[in-house]
Amino acid sequence: MIACGCEVCTSTDKEDNRLRSSILVQSETTTIVVDTTPDFRYQMLRANVHKLDAVLFTHQHKDHVAGLDDIRAFNFFQQEAISVYASEQTQQALKKEFSYIFADFKYPGIPDINLLYIDEQTFLIGDIPVTPIHVMHLHMPVLAFRFGDFTYITDANKIDAVEKEKIKGSKIVTINALRHKEHISHFSLSEAITLADELQVPQAFFTHISHQLGKHNLVNSELPPGKLLAFDQQVIHV
Ligand SMILES: [Zn+2]
Ligand SMILES: [Zn+2]
Ligand SMILES: [Zn+2]
Repeated sequence: MIACGCEVCTSTDKEDNRLRSSILVQSETTTIVVDTTPDFRYQMLRANVHKLDAVLFTHQHKDHVAGLDDIRAFNFFQQEAISVYASEQTQQALKKEFSYIFADFKYPGIPDINLLYIDEQTFLIGDIPVTPIHVMHLHMPVLAFRFGDFTYITDANKIDAVEKEKIKGSKIVTINALRHKEHISHFSLSEAITLADELQVPQAFFTHISHQLGKHNLVNSELPPGKLLAFDQQVIHV
């Protein structure tokens, strides 16, 4: 966190050094990014991503959308619009916050996106199946996504029983866990552990972690079996 001198923010362990939450989902032929954070440009450079097929948005909070402008590099090299999947509510926010992208008379070189709605049904992006799952972030609806055996849930603190059924059977689930203390719109670590148990997933990873959770290595070593903290640049094979 900017201007913070706590033991996590001053740590030299790479696992304590976190950018904003986002994942890259990749098959042999298809590459999807979930959310374009304010760190999107650096995250794409760091992961050496040369081709992007689509962006999936979870919700419109700035820490999940602010990097959208940098999609323009993929437009330049791929010479095509990039597909951007979002809910109606997120689309409205994108149109407001990136009005120049949607203007009638566009300045040359601005992002070129193909905005698509996310329906209830499972859909395919290239060869990757995507199942949208509705979760709640206090009062804000957020989309979680299941990709085959892997489910990614961020910025949630409540999930209805019907939606939980869509997650069950996943082999790996990533769940947001902000800190130990309860929070108004995010799962705490113990709430995330309880949810992972309830979903009966063999392996859970926790993400969207605040510096308030404490040092990665210490917290990670105290977690029950089948549960780990995620860290930046982690690669998971499903
Ligand atoms: Zn700190
Ligand atoms: Zn949020
Ligand atoms: Zn967030």
